[in-house]
Amino acid sequence: MDTKFIWSTTQKGEKALLYKNYLYRLRRENQNGSLIYVCTNKSCPRVITLKNDAIIQCDVTRHNHDPRLTEDVQTVFTGLKRRVITDADQSIGKIHEEEVKKICE
Ligand SMILES: [Zn+2]
Repeated sequence: MDTKFIWSTTQKGEKALLYKNYLYRLRRENQNGSLIYVCTNKSCPRVITLKNDAIIQCDVTRHNHDPRLTEDVQTVFTGLKRRVITDADQSIGKIHEEEVKKICE
């Protein structure tokens, strides 16, 4: 079982974890100290269990949607590539900033 994940935040700024390109937020804490995280997509039933900041159990049900987060990230990179070629005189940092702004709006 692949248990690598990274800490992240939801759009509301809540603590969340990113696992295999899906974002999970905390639902509840069990009496034994383990934490139940649910997929941030409201209609998705997928949950994972954490203990001591490690994934100890992974629900086998599949997500009923695509990893939205990855789509957004890919949009940034695709736009970036295109603009780096056409706007060769602009700094890459500035172009990236503009592309991120577009997505946020
Ligand atoms: Zn899901």
